[in-house]
Amino acid sequence: MSSRRELFLEEMGLTPLWRLRRTETAVEAEDEEQRRAPGAGADFAVATPALAQAGMAAADRAARIGRMDWVELKAAVAACTACGLRKTCTQTVFGVGDEAADWLLVGEAPGAEEDARGEPFVGQAGKLLDAMLASIDLKRGKDVYIANVLKCRPPGNRNPEHAEVEQCSPFLARQVALIRPKLILALGRFACQTLLDSDASIASLRGRVHRYQGVPLIVTYHPAYLLRSLPDKAKAWEDLCFARRTMADLRERV
Ligand code: URA
Repeated sequence: MSSRRELFLEEMGLTPLWRLRRTETAVEAEDEEQRRAPGAGADFAVATPALAQAGMAAADRAARIGRMDWVELKAAVAACTACGLRKTCTQTVFGVGDEAADWLLVGEAPGAEEDARGEPFVGQAGKLLDAMLASIDLKRGKDVYIANVLKCRPPGNRNPEHAEVEQCSPFLARQVALIRPKLILALGRFACQTLLDSDASIASLRGRVHRYQGVPLIVTYHPAYLLRSLPDKAKAWEDLCFARRTMADLRERV
């Protein structure tokens, strides 16, 4: 292992913790994450003509977004008022990086620092994310694009709501279609569940290659969660190594 990598692993708190067993604290934290899953316990909507119309309008909007180029997409995100979040956030946070990247990292939503600076993952969690990237020889902006499911900060960093995700998802879908990454790394329960349209836990989704819009997708823990849960950093490291191996395989196939 290079000393540079050792340094980053140390920063991630991974040395000498390699394959720690799941502790009770981690189990509880994960269970708590699961309990707070968006949509948990949501009622089923009854289809009415008004709802059908709303569905058609949403499909029409998604189709329009699905035809946008980068310039149009950035302008559309900046001007979006489709949900209430734009009223409370400072600015939209579109995403950052290489627009032809092989790697796409997807987080949840901007936090306070991201909201202030207009760039994803620039706070504490972002520092850890940069270290995670460096541990597999990646760098923000170099063959890497970083985006969030939501482009606006939920007030007080509350969990994103279903309606907000519905409105914002076409933007991320278009980003994926324009970037055409080889691999998506979904960070945290929220991004994983949204992209995979699943309510499964991260623990049960890890270690396999999933697909979003046909693009291979690997899940791992959110850096903000890892800042609180030391034992799961070892698992995140395993996920990163798995992602790196998967990328190598994908590149070999072309
Ligand atoms: N958490 C996220 O999911 N995204 C950010 O941009 C910052 C923190």
